[in-house]
Amino acid sequence: MLILTNKNIRISQSAKIFDFLTDSGYRHCTATFDGRQVIVVADVKSENLCGDISKLPGVEKVIPVDEPYQLCSRRAKPSCTVIRVRDFCIGGGNFGLIGGPCTVESERQMIETAIQVKKAGATALRGGAFKPRTSPYAFQGLKEDGLKILAKARKETGLAIVTEAMSCEEVSLVADYADVVQIGTRNAQNYRLLEKCGEMRTPILLKRGFSCTLEEFLMSAEYILAGGNDQVILCERGIRTFETYQRYTLPIGAIPSLRLMTHLPLVVDPSHAAGRVEFVAPLTLAAVAVGVDGLLVEVHNSPQTALCDGRQSLTPNEFKKLVKTCNEIRTTLKYNKTKST
Ligand code: PEP
Ligand code: MN
Repeated sequence: MLILTNKNIRISQSAKIFDFLTDSGYRHCTATFDGRQVIVVADVKSENLCGDISKLPGVEKVIPVDEPYQLCSRRAKPSCTVIRVRDFCIGGGNFGLIGGPCTVESERQMIETAIQVKKAGATALRGGAFKPRTSPYAFQGLKEDGLKILAKARKETGLAIVTEAMSCEEVSLVADYADVVQIGTRNAQNYRLLEKCGEMRTPILLKRGFSCTLEEFLMSAEYILAGGNDQVILCERGIRTFETYQRYTLPIGAIPSLRLMTHLPLVVDPSHAAGRVEFVAPLTLAAVAVGVDGLLVEVHNSPQTALCDGRQSLTPNEFKKLVKTCNEIRTTLKYNKTKST
């Protein structure tokens, strides 16, 4: 249940609401919701609570929410959330196109790729400086030097920067350079890290954990919102199933499902789902056709020599062609700015 209080509520009135909730045995917290302060009440069982709270002085409105994810839920906020990052808007009919290599390797590689993805229509540049690698012997990223290269690429192109943070210790450093901090699939349920993201004001791109249900995915996003950061972009990147032919399985059905469940913008990462360049375009087009708000695609200026994930990276030219077809699909299906779901 969400309690919206009057804008100029008195301290004594808020204290009464908190006392009432505590005395009735309800856990609660305050958060930002749709640009304003709200009180979130967890596990509401009593049907009368809503009416009782509504009568308290200082309460403007009570929104009952049955789902365990509350701030994220479409029931709480029927309109789509739009997130603005520099010139880049995502959600509510604004399509966010994020392209770039798996990992930052050199200044030349990043600037060349950035210029090309921008020409193709990208609004943001991706590239990992801190890389989660399955093998401890694999390239782990250039760390802060990589972040500095990303900042140069932004200066050169004006593209917003999306890059991953893997731990509580490095998240503030990453946020000093990035416009959007990415939380990867392996950290999707790292609750201390999610809490840390909640304390920040930088937008977060949260990937679905590859074994998370949609509800678990939204509960992870809820951690960030409950912490006070309402700038969350969700990213479906494929889940692990019994099928091994592709790297992961991209669940297309997750896209319309999440649409109903949440107001948050949703992007798809076809690259990590596919694992092979041959599958990136078909998965992308399917995701665009079902109405995703944006894409996160791996693009490398020289995929054959990439230090990481070259096998699934598009060349800038392939990316450009793909973007053109995506735009055609979006025009045909009228996924324009006025479409709200
Ligand atoms: C990535 O996007 O760089 C990445 C590592 O993706 P994921 O967390 O989805 O595996
Ligand atoms: Mn990758």
